[in-house]
Amino acid sequence: MANERTFSILKPDATRRNITGAVNAVIEAAGLRIVAQRRIRMTREQAEKFYEVHKERPFFGELVEFMTSGPVVVQVLEGENAVAKYREVMGATNPAQAADGTIRKQFAESVGENTVHGSDSADNAKIEIAQFFTDADIAA
Ligand code: ATP
Ligand code: MG
Repeated sequence: MANERTFSILKPDATRRNITGAVNAVIEAAGLRIVAQRRIRMTREQAEKFYEVHKERPFFGELVEFMTSGPVVVQVLEGENAVAKYREVMGATNPAQAADGTIRKQFAESVGENTVHGSDSADNAKIEIAQFFTDADIAA
C-alpha cells in the first residue's frame, strides 16, 4: 500500500537521554517521512486512554507512570507500508529480542522503557493519530 500513515511516540527514555534526533535519523534512513511531530507531556488521562487495551495487564500502572514521567515526541510517519515498515524498524518489544539495526536494539533500555511506540495496524494508526493530531497539523 502506498503512502500509508502510522503513529509514533518517542518515549520518555528517549527525551531524557537526548536521543530523539538519533532515533529520527533511523526513521528517516528507513524511508519513513515525519509529516507531523510535537513534543508534549502526556497527561495521565491521555496515557490511560492511549493504552486502554492493556488496562488489565500487570504492567499497566507502570506503563502509565513511565509514559507520564517526562516529555514524549508524538509523530505521524508516512511512507510505503508505513505501519509494518515502522514495526520492523522499531524491533521486538523486548530489546533483548530485537534484531540488529533496529531502534530498540540500538537504544532501548528494557521491555518497559523501550524508546518508541508504533501503531500495530492501519486502523489503530488512524485512531491513535486522531488522539493527538488534527488534519491541519499534518503537512505531507
Ligand atoms: P508499543 O505498543 O509501545 O509500540 P509493542 O506493540 O511492541 O509496543 P505492546 O505489547 O503493545 O508492545 O505493549 C505496549 C507497551 O507496554 C510496550 O511498548 C512496553 O512499553 C510496555 N510493556 C509491554 N510488555 C511489558 C512488560 N512485560 N513489562 C513492562 N512493560 C511492558
Ligand atoms: Mg503495541
